[in-house]
Amino acid sequence: MEFAWNSDQEAVRQRAASFASEFLAPHAATWDQEESLPEGVLRACARSGLTGLTVPKEMGGPGESTVAYALAITELAAACSSTAVTVAVSSMVAETIANIGTPEQRERYLPSLLSGEFPAGSFALSEPGSGSDAGSLRTRAEIKGEQVFLNGEKSWITSGPFAGVFVVWARTGEGEGSRGVSTFLVEPSDPGFEVGRKEEKMGLRASPTVSLNFDDCRITSDRLFGEPGRGFRIAMQALDGGRIGVASQALGIARAAIDAVERYYEVHPHRRGAYEESRLAHMKSEFAAARLLILQAAWLKDEKKPFSAKAAMAKAYSTEAANTICQEALDLLGEDGCTNDYPVERLFRDVRVTTIYEGTSEVQRIVISRSFLSEAR
Ligand SMILES: Cc1cc2nc3c(=O)[nH]c(=O)nc-3n(C[C@H](O)[C@H](O)[C@H](O)COP(=O)(O)OP(=O)(O)OC[C@H]3O[C@@H](n4cnc5c(N)ncnc54)[C@H](O)[C@@H]3O)c2cc1C
Repeated sequence: MEFAWNSDQEAVRQRAASFASEFLAPHAATWDQEESLPEGVLRACARSGLTGLTVPKEMGGPGESTVAYALAITELAAACSSTAVTVAVSSMVAETIANIGTPEQRERYLPSLLSGEFPAGSFALSEPGSGSDAGSLRTRAEIKGEQVFLNGEKSWITSGPFAGVFVVWARTGEGEGSRGVSTFLVEPSDPGFEVGRKEEKMGLRASPTVSLNFDDCRITSDRLFGEPGRGFRIAMQALDGGRIGVASQALGIARAAIDAVERYYEVHPHRRGAYEESRLAHMKSEFAAARLLILQAAWLKDEKKPFSAKAAMAKAYSTEAANTICQEALDLLGEDGCTNDYPVERLFRDVRVTTIYEGTSEVQRIVISRSFLSEAR
């Protein structure tokens, strides 16, 4: 057994860390206040090979491991979690297109996602009234010969305003609930497609979250993604990997919070007593436990072993631990923790959503329980 990532993975981590310290960290607070992320930065991130890290080399991708991906997302999130979530969702879209797409679909979308020509890819599953219970989605797709007509609304979709491709789930009628859902690739210029209302969020404010409207949105049938009626499975597989990304994002935010407390004590040494030391020790222990769970899930995915339950454990544990760490950091800074003179209040706001999206902690526990129940049978 070895508890270290290899030199290739370390090289990716260092690349992400230097990109983050040069291009993200100096601006993250301003982007949060302005509620926008410069598209040029996202393009630069893709050009630095940090988007779609796990897309195989034979498909034009960097062909890096999931372990390297987890390390990279942690570095990006420690500097700017809005950028990290954009890259994580785009990477999930790119990896899913690499896994499921036809050769034509891969050729049409992967180069643009990997080169930064598309600042981002978007994952459109949730709807008003259909979040945790994704199988109850109501958007419909009618396949008529060579054409498909989409009607419905998606909500809370990350990167909607600047995504170049949307992976969209819609009901095609092969069955009830999670059966009878198919997946389609939609482009922003498709007729009948419109980006709707932008949410006013407490955190991740630089990452736009919007609704999408499909009003007889017309696409050609070659945009069907995967087999008809098998869309739910595509979503669940993508989310298994995506959860490693969200867990890594939370870990990066937690590290930034711990670093901020350490920096604060350098300037205010009189505030660091035995009581504070003990709380800091607990934060660091939680961070270390979360990191191990994430790396284990990522390693299992790389080894092509079952990793779904471990990814759910990593997501639930890391995001809950990161929330506790950020709350502790805010408390330790006292009144200074509540001002934007220090990054902790932004980290505290940014980390909150990580227990919610790509499956709430309760949903992760359902995934974990089911895996144990099926093992017991
Ligand atoms: C900032 C942000 C970005 C997002 N980005 C995207 C995106 O890019 N694409 C996308 O498709 N979606 C996105 N989402 C949506 C997100 O995935 C959903 O918010 C999430 O799945 C939870 O769904 P919900 O909000 O409808 O809550 P609900 O499902 O209504 O859950 C409400 C509460 O009930 C609990 N609950 C629900 N069902 C159960 C159950 N069976 N057992 C126990 N407890 C349960 C939940 O844990 C939660 O605490 C985003 C959300 C946010 C906040």
